[in-house]
Amino acid sequence: MMDNRSGKGLSFVRRIYLPRIIGLGIGMFSVAAGISTLAPAQWTWGLLLFNGLLWPHLAYQLARRADVPYHAEHRNLLADSLMGGFWTATMQFNPLPSVTILAMMAMNNVAAGGQRLFFKGLLAQALGAGLSIALFGAGLQLQATALQVYACLPMLTLYPMAVGWVCYRLAMKLAEHKHRLSALSRTDSLTGLFNHGAWKDLLQLRFQACQQECCQAVIALIDIDHFKAINDTYGHVVGDCVLTQLSNELKRSLRSDDLAGRYGGDEFCLILPDTSLEQARQAMERLRERIGSYRNPQLPELHISLSIGLASCQPTLADPEAWLNAADKALYTAKNSGRNQVNFAHSDLTTLKLAYPD
Ligand code: GH3
Ligand code: MG
Repeated sequence: MMDNRSGKGLSFVRRIYLPRIIGLGIGMFSVAAGISTLAPAQWTWGLLLFNGLLWPHLAYQLARRADVPYHAEHRNLLADSLMGGFWTATMQFNPLPSVTILAMMAMNNVAAGGQRLFFKGLLAQALGAGLSIALFGAGLQLQATALQVYACLPMLTLYPMAVGWVCYRLAMKLAEHKHRLSALSRTDSLTGLFNHGAWKDLLQLRFQACQQECCQAVIALIDIDHFKAINDTYGHVVGDCVLTQLSNELKRSLRSDDLAGRYGGDEFCLILPDTSLEQARQAMERLRERIGSYRNPQLPELHISLSIGLASCQPTLADPEAWLNAADKALYTAKNSGRNQVNFAHSDLTTLKLAYPD
């Protein structure tokens, strides 16, 4: 039930709870000092105690139990402002405590609801002041005693710290959320590998680095053979398991700077930096054999094989798309030559033939 309503501002309500306890608790001393010289009616003291000590908890409960806690909390903030205006006029606008209370409330309202709440708060403060003037009459008390000055100091120091702390914590939380969302938007949900878009971004970066620094790198496109038949025979759940199995094998066997992604469907893509074609071939042969020997005791007839296309980064390649295309063609040839094999890009084959003529 709590979680159902959390979208309606419960965390906002919780965030305000402690600063309100602190603010109204110590603000009460500024007001007490302000009205002490004016011999106010007995019940005013009662109201002040209620406002300073009980209201923060009542406000919290009211907002927590409301259908839309966010709206209820806005009403509470306006009630705070109304009472602030009321106490200001009751202190006969004694400058220091009045400014202290009004300024702290303005800060609070701007922090909680921007300029809209700030202006609504001003109205509520005027209304509160009007209420006090209607009850007690208007007065002006421009002299502050030493006690009144000192009684404002806790409010002036502690409350801004409390609000600053809450804002800081909120900012940290937002930064963390942003970080998590950004990671999520780059991840393939089934396998936890990079998704198509993120991997292509990395490919672009790697391609540029290779062309500038003339370093070696190989990309591999890996496609499961007859994956559709696995889905059709054993169902999509088993199909998904095969995909996770392959991605786990990739995570286990690759080096930490290799970049593995899911290109889409049953196709996976790798960037292997600082790797020669021969090293890449050996790594991919090992992967192909390991996946080929994978057996599920519950499904003894399920065999998985991989077709893999490799392409190394060549100075002649115009862009990352051309690099990817070379690997794609190599994969296509592997599929057409009977599947379950590792194949090289045309340009790499030429280079290999030059190095090893037979
Ligand atoms: P080939 O040997 O030529 O690669 O044949 P194939 O059947 O593997 O190739 P095809 O591209 O026709 O089939 C891929 C299938 O993968 C089709 C689609 O239904 C299935 N597929 C795509 N994404 C998912 C997924 O997330 N989970 C599961 N279980 N299946 C998926
Ligand atoms: Mg396939």
